[in-house]
Amino acid sequence: MSAEDPLVHLLWINAGLSCDGDSVALTAATQPSIEEIATRALPGLPRVALHWPLLDYECGPQGGAEDFMGWFHRAARGELDPFVLVVEGSVPNEAVKREGYWTGFGNDPATGQPITVCEWLDRLTPMATAVVAAGTCAAYGGVHAMAGNPTGAMGLPDYLGWQWRSKADIPIVCVPGCPVQPDSFAETLVHLLYQITGQAPAIELDDSLRPTWLFGRTVHENCGLAGYYEQGGFAAGYGQEQCLVKIGCWGPAVKCNVPRRGWINGVGGCPNVGGVCIACTMPGFPDHFMPFMDEPHGMPTPPPSEGLYATFVRTLRTVVLYEAEKEPEWRRPGGSLATGYTAPWEDAGGDGEHGG
Ligand code: SF4
Ligand code: SF4
Repeated sequence: MSAEDPLVHLLWINAGLSCDGDSVALTAATQPSIEEIATRALPGLPRVALHWPLLDYECGPQGGAEDFMGWFHRAARGELDPFVLVVEGSVPNEAVKREGYWTGFGNDPATGQPITVCEWLDRLTPMATAVVAAGTCAAYGGVHAMAGNPTGAMGLPDYLGWQWRSKADIPIVCVPGCPVQPDSFAETLVHLLYQITGQAPAIELDDSLRPTWLFGRTVHENCGLAGYYEQGGFAAGYGQEQCLVKIGCWGPAVKCNVPRRGWINGVGGCPNVGGVCIACTMPGFPDHFMPFMDEPHGMPTPPPSEGLYATFVRTLRTVVLYEAEKEPEWRRPGGSLATGYTAPWEDAGGDGEHGG
C-alpha cells in the first residue's frame, strides 16, 4: 500500500441470509455519512473503493470500469490489498443441504453455478485485512438462526471461530443491531479505515466482538425513561410515558446505545420513544427474548425502588418540585428593592471612606 495515497477496497457481501436492512440503514448515517466516507470528506481518510451491491460507482455491473463480481474474484486471487470485507446476513450451513445451495453470490465462470456465500468466506477471509459483521444476523445468526430454522444458520464468529484474526491480526468486528444503528456502523468503518492506515489504535472489542465505545452500556443505562423506572412509574400499556419494563422492555439486560444516540440525527430510538427493547443487538436474539410483548422473564422486576419507598421518594420530590416551580418573591416591580443588596457606600458599619 502506498503510504502517500492509500486505497482501501471495501467489499460488501449482502448475500448471507439477510434482508439488506443493514445496507439500507447505512444510507441514513450522518456522523459520518457513507458519502463522506466514499469521498474522503474526513481528514486523513484513505481513498475508499466501494464494492457494495447497494451503491457502487467504482464499476457497476455494466458500463463501468469492471464487472462488479470481478473485484471479488480479484480479491480472492490476492490482487487487492488492503481490503475490508463486510458481511451482511447470517451464514447458512451448506453442509446440511443435500442439493442446491442456501445462498449464493455470483456465478462460477467455469461451471455457471452459483458460488455459495460460505465458499466466498473461505476464499476471501484469509486475504482480508479486516472482516466486519454488519448486523445481528452476520454477527450472531439473528432471526434466521432461530430455533426451528431449516438452514442451520450462524454468525461469522461461529463460522470462522471466535478467536479468528485477520492477516493484519484484527479480530472479527461485530456491529450488531437489527438493523445496525447507522452512525454506529459508519463510525466503526471509519475507525477501521484509520486503523489499517496507521492512524488509530487497535479497535477495542468486548467478548462478543462489539466495539466497546458503542456497546459498553446497557439500553437501560442510556434510556430517557430510567427516571420513571427508578421511582416506580411503570406503563401498563402502550402510549403511556412511563418505563416499559412491565410490557416487555428488556433494556436492563441489553447492550445498545440507541436510546442515547437516537436513530437518525438524534431522532427516534426504541424505549426512549415508546417501543419496548427487544434486545436486537444481543447474541441470544431473538429466542432468549420471546415472546416480545411479555414482561421479561428471569429479570428482577419489579425493581427495588417499587412500593412504599418509591411512593415516599415521589412525594418528597413533588414537594421539592413545588418549591422549585416558584420564583423568589423579590422578582417584582415596585419602589423598593427586596433582593438583599446593600451598596457598599450605604454600609451601616461605616468602615469605608465615609467612616472613621
Ligand atoms: S423503558 Fe426499558 S430501558 Fe427504559 S427505563 Fe424502562 S426498562 Fe429501562
Ligand atoms: S434499544 Fe433494543 S430494540 Fe432498540 S436497537 Fe437497541 S437493542 Fe435493538
